Amino acid sequence: MLRPLIVDALGSGRSGRRATLDAIGAGPRAVAGVLELRGLKPRIIIAEEFLRGGLNLKGFNLLLISAMTVDQPTARRVASLWRRLNSDAPIILGGPIASDPAALLRVGGDIAVIGEGEKTLEELLNLLIEDRLDEGLRNLRGVAYRGEGGVRVNPLRPVMSRVEYDGYRPSTRVVRDYPLYYAARVYVEVLRGCSNYYRPIVEECIRCDRCRSGGLTERYDCPVGIPPGCGYCSVPSLYGPPRSRSVSRILEEVEELLEMGVRRLVLSAPDILDYGRDLLVEPEPLTDPREPEPNYDALEELLSTLTDLKPIRSGEASLMAENIKPSLVTERAAKLLGRYLSGTPINIGFETGSESHSRLLGRPSTPRECLTAIRRLRRAGLRPQVYFIHGLPGQSVETVEASIKAIWSSIQAGADWIILYRFTPLPMSAFAHMPKAPPAARDPLSRRLRENVSKANKMLKGRWIGRKLKAIIDGRYMKDRRFHVAYPMPHGPVILIKDAERLEGKTVEITITSITSERVMKGIITSIKGNKHFVTLYKSPNRFNAHEAQHKTYSSFSRDINTESP
Ligand code: SF4
Repeated sequence: MLRPLIVDALGSGRSGRRATLDAIGAGPRAVAGVLELRGLKPRIIIAEEFLRGGLNLKGFNLLLISAMTVDQPTARRVASLWRRLNSDAPIILGGPIASDPAALLRVGGDIAVIGEGEKTLEELLNLLIEDRLDEGLRNLRGVAYRGEGGVRVNPLRPVMSRVEYDGYRPSTRVVRDYPLYYAARVYVEVLRGCSNYYRPIVEECIRCDRCRSGGLTERYDCPVGIPPGCGYCSVPSLYGPPRSRSVSRILEEVEELLEMGVRRLVLSAPDILDYGRDLLVEPEPLTDPREPEPNYDALEELLSTLTDLKPIRSGEASLMAENIKPSLVTERAAKLLGRYLSGTPINIGFETGSESHSRLLGRPSTPRECLTAIRRLRRAGLRPQVYFIHGLPGQSVETVEASIKAIWSSIQAGADWIILYRFTPLPMSAFAHMPKAPPAARDPLSRRLRENVSKANKMLKGRWIGRKLKAIIDGRYMKDRRFHVAYPMPHGPVILIKDAERLEGKTVEITITSITSERVMKGIITSIKGNKHFVTLYKSPNRFNAHEAQHKTYSSFSRDINTESP
């Protein structure tokens, strides 16, 4: 009998999570769902807890590690601990880290599941259960594995159709394996894939313009094999064009998560405005990031159905969307989002302020469109969080000047927060073979960007003082135990509060009083919202102080991480 353990190493980087403490990604739950389909009962543990010896591994005989490329050091430590205690049991690697088959050797895994994992994992489980792994692996699509003489990479699997994808059901049962599930942002996948099949302008490009003006099916492949999408991103290569889940499936999952005690939900998608657009062009693939316009009816049906759920309607739970592409933010789309998601943050990729650089990178939107989108979203009541990247291929004095201008224009347009990533080449992206950018401090141009972002955020943070907001109280703050940590209901900076003994797990109203660092503020409790359902659910004593258990240190946040989503 297989007894699988999933280690969630997403965002753990070299030394554990810092910027994603309160996020629970959709990937590990999707994997658990496939295992449950096969009648198995997987457990999930976060990598930090696994490495602290938080679980007796004796009962498990299959390890699945979910990680991004930057999480390789942590994934390696996980695999090596497993080997010490459980030497023969296989290790399967999944998530974006698996897109580089060499990661298998570096981590010490046995099999890597590349791209969409559901079907591959189902077939892999059959091989394991029927004890046919040795003979079956060579014909299994979508995997790389360690064989004699090194790593063998099998042909990739075509992406699933919308109907096949919708047939899978992420596990909700395992969400309680996460110590912070009651306060964390729990990601619910509403669509998979990206509609940007433009390509960056790289040396090999023969300028045929097929990826920008060809038909939807034509754009899928480039005659010289340049991977689709923005050069710094691997989503279209790994997961294909968007396919939306049905409202009924998403509803079922959200209802179950709320029932389990989850209070912050994020509709996860590379672009929420791609939701249902695939239906408008079926059976062709949605490979155009601009046309047709958003499927307003489908989006409205999704958002109205979910926001009508009692815990969300009453404000006990919050609903947010993850990302948005400026090219699709029409006035109508912004208003629609504002109608259902007012007051919540939304991520918008700006990346560069230069028009020509933007085209060179393969971006679907121009800087001007980014500013218009920020303005529209803010007017509609959302809180745009705007992303830039330093150290991108093509970065120059001109592009940095343009980006600095764009940072300040974004604030004028209504940005709530500016985030600066460091460029990291991702396997299967068009920039896979470019060098990784040096840290911002070591590059004069990147440093200028960083200084401007810090200055901008300091100013934006000042606007939080005096604001009242709802937050969920977690355990004590490890650096100063007089304080407790609280997470704002819609996402926002972490808040430290005093006098919160015996309020762990409760939703309270907090007034922000001061700013501690770039990502941490202080506040006072101004009212305690009695939420019997929630407090009852949360009586289990070993669930208290999840923050304390989960994180030994709570350092200030580094933005020098890569651009993969969790
Ligand atoms: S990236 Fe490929 S499809 Fe696009 S213009 Fe260049 S050669 Fe043509």
